[in-house]
Amino acid sequence: MKFQSTRDLNAEKLSAAQIIKQGLAVDGGLFVPESIPALTVAEIEELCHADYPTRAARILGKFLTDYTEEELLADCRAAYAETSFVGGAAPLVALDETIHSLELWHGPTAAFKDMALQIMPRLLSRALVKTGEERTALILVATSGDTGKAALEGYKDIDRIKIAVFYPVDGVSRVQKLQMQTQLGDNVYVCAINGNFDDAQTGVKRIFSDAAAAEYLNEKGYFFSSANSINWGRLAPQIVYYVSAYCDLLNKGTLKMGEKMNVTVPTGNFGNIFAAYLAKLMGLPIDKLVCASNKNNILTDFLTTGTYDRNRQFHLTMSPSMDILISSNLERLLYFTAGAARTAKYMKSLNETGAYTVDADVKAAIDESFCGFFADEEMTAKTIRETMDNYHYLADTHTAVALSAAWQYVEKTGDKKPMVVASTASPYKFANDVYTSLYGAAPSDALAALDELSAKTGVEITYPLRGIGERKIRFTDVVPSADMWKAVQKYLG
Ligand SMILES: *Cc1c(COP(=O)(O)O)cnc(C)c1O
Repeated sequence: MKFQSTRDLNAEKLSAAQIIKQGLAVDGGLFVPESIPALTVAEIEELCHADYPTRAARILGKFLTDYTEEELLADCRAAYAETSFVGGAAPLVALDETIHSLELWHGPTAAFKDMALQIMPRLLSRALVKTGEERTALILVATSGDTGKAALEGYKDIDRIKIAVFYPVDGVSRVQKLQMQTQLGDNVYVCAINGNFDDAQTGVKRIFSDAAAAEYLNEKGYFFSSANSINWGRLAPQIVYYVSAYCDLLNKGTLKMGEKMNVTVPTGNFGNIFAAYLAKLMGLPIDKLVCASNKNNILTDFLTTGTYDRNRQFHLTMSPSMDILISSNLERLLYFTAGAARTAKYMKSLNETGAYTVDADVKAAIDESFCGFFADEEMTAKTIRETMDNYHYLADTHTAVALSAAWQYVEKTGDKKPMVVASTASPYKFANDVYTSLYGAAPSDALAALDELSAKTGVEITYPLRGIGERKIRFTDVVPSADMWKAVQKYLG
């Protein structure tokens, strides 16, 4: 299996190891597989009897053909071990006959980013060997909270990789800050910057494009790499849990082989929902993909009108991981429905005017699989309350946006097929907003909100967040954003 850019079919095709190391195509496009491998009925039946790591290795093996079965199985066993994913890698919880919550937050950082970031570093480590790379990869991450911690946990103590994470000193929650400051591992560095998330991101981009910095690293035996969510190494592992959910619905007798399920995904960068679309293209019986947005409902508008227009107000919401106006992975959907030439044209228009409108045939192809709904702040809070009242189920703010969209879809269409709703974060990761949605003003101490939410609902605090206030703080550096490169140099010694 080779991979090519979404924007240029004539460019050189590369192996999985090469594109996992490289991240982005040289023309600025994203990497996509040159063909979609099939998932047969016989294979789905076989996977029904397999555990999660085996399911993952089988699906990944269809794309990462330059990795051996043994390598993939060993990496998946290590990544999705029961000690890291307490309570299972991707358990499916039925709320009623239609709605099934696919809990993707049982990993070490209590958010769904773990599903990809626990395995991708292992794939990168092997990619270095496979491509004859002799240097060590230095991962630089700017984070607004969730990605940084998940990347730290994923890359910690992985061979031939070091990672440095920068976060805005006043731009992350107390829990998120503690999660990063107490990070374990011998190859990790965490630093706060005086500035906001944009300053951190701009600082990382500046270092990445600084020729002198690259030269300095090269002499020391390092090269820059990124943990970015548009890397194929983060996307491929996300296909697995949709296949796994289908197997679980078969095993429970909710579905018979071949019957279709629907899927709802709380969407930001369009990575998670695109993985569900890939599962459908491979042959997994999925009917509709419901794209759930918060008040930043640019995708709802796009799926309704065919026009993507980022010239609009940006809103900060209680589901911050979905506060996004550029959904990078949407480019991959355009590639599969419009082809490379038109994708390049749409992306040029997005760059120059902030907007593009897809052609009628592309809109029709997207409509066959996708529809979009959104929940504003009030609807999100109401959904958290109703989910608790009606099902005694504690949903985080992102999951609540998805549940609201799923119910809107069912009400509008009357479609009662089993609906798998991707639950992307532990409610305790966003304890303050969940508490406020349920009971009014939360305790002023951020850590007390976790305990009180647990006491009031009777739902246990998610394992990795327990006792977070008592862990040893390792990282206290705070630097001006102009000094980020100096901080990296100091870290490398
Ligand atoms: C990243 C994230 C999302 C959005 O996922 P995309 O793949 O970017 O669409 C949703 N919920 C949570 C909790 C996240 O961390």
